[in-house]
Amino acid sequence: MLACMDRAGNPSSVHAEGRAARGVVEAARRQVASLCGAPPGDIIFTSGATEAAAMVLRAPWRCIVLSRIEHPCVVEPVVASNARPIELAVGEDGRIDVDHAQRLLTRHARDLAGERGSSLLVVQAANNETGVVQPVAELAAMAREHGLSVLVDAVQAAGRIGLDRDALGADFMLLSSHKIGGPKGVGALVAREGQVLPPLLLGGGQERRRRAGTENVEGIAGFGAAAQAALETRDVEMERVGALRDELERRAQEMAPGTVVVGYGAPRLANTTCLALPGAKAETLVIKLDLAGVAVSAGAACSSGKVGQSSVLAAMGLEPEVAGAAIRVSMGHGTTHMDVESFLAAWRGAVDARLARAPRRREAAGAITATIETTIR
Ligand code: PLP
Repeated sequence: MLACMDRAGNPSSVHAEGRAARGVVEAARRQVASLCGAPPGDIIFTSGATEAAAMVLRAPWRCIVLSRIEHPCVVEPVVASNARPIELAVGEDGRIDVDHAQRLLTRHARDLAGERGSSLLVVQAANNETGVVQPVAELAAMAREHGLSVLVDAVQAAGRIGLDRDALGADFMLLSSHKIGGPKGVGALVAREGQVLPPLLLGGGQERRRRAGTENVEGIAGFGAAAQAALETRDVEMERVGALRDELERRAQEMAPGTVVVGYGAPRLANTTCLALPGAKAETLVIKLDLAGVAVSAGAACSSGKVGQSSVLAAMGLEPEVAGAAIRVSMGHGTTHMDVESFLAAWRGAVDARLARAPRRREAAGAITATIETTIR
């Protein structure tokens, strides 16, 4: 990335500087392609997964089948579109219910049956709040039987579990660089070369006329390097991080036995855990942990500094008391055992504070009761 910043070449220019920049972009395209088992020609670089999703979802789909645990970058364009949404059910463990999906597709077979590929299934490979891995290949196979195209949001799964576009049965895939340790503001849409989508941005003929605008060469170089590193280190790294995650969950539960590990028992990404400390408030936990130097998010995290109700946890049927107490802890290549210790020390502080508040709440309740009794007397 630093080398690219020193060079002025535009990948569309024919001079040597331009050709050098083109070389960087094409090398990164091959690296990103290997991460998801697609040929390099199917990678379209974008400003992130949100843009990639918009490119697919603005096409005139007839029906879009999706669940409530999808990321807002998918849900919002579907809501804004003229497509008819058809909702998949989610189990308590955070996984999309495959049996329900089969019945749903059969029930809606007439609506879905238009020209082949005129309706779409949208499914994420793994959830961003719980890390729960979704039964993508099974859902995609069913969807294809009903003539649907398939969009897989692979943002969270990339670099953490194996991804093979054809084995998953995806027509389109979304990728985001910063989730695999690359720079922010760059991502990709993976789409078969012949697949025609109405372009989102009109202008130059970049990305084989599929995404206009000068390529973000520095960002793309970083995305490619991160994809290669993720591919090379994934298995060892996920085993290491998974062991840290398991220890963190076990000890957090020992400190506060009521702690809920959301999605426990379902297949999950090794780097993500969603912990709820009933009786606590997620926002307070986030602040307490932040003061202790530990960066975690509350539920759905926040796009604009606000913490909203998590639609993912609501879709799983979690009681509001549990959902409102849930924080998401993510780990990465930089996470060490010391970080887990720091988290647990801060967690202990939060647990103790909750316990200390409990008698005060009881005393306060007692005082109020006494006041009411006196007033009545
Ligand atoms: N999909 C999932 C599952 C995500 O977690 C995110 C970002 O957090 C996105 C899509 C959007 O990615 P981007 O920020 O690159 O647009």
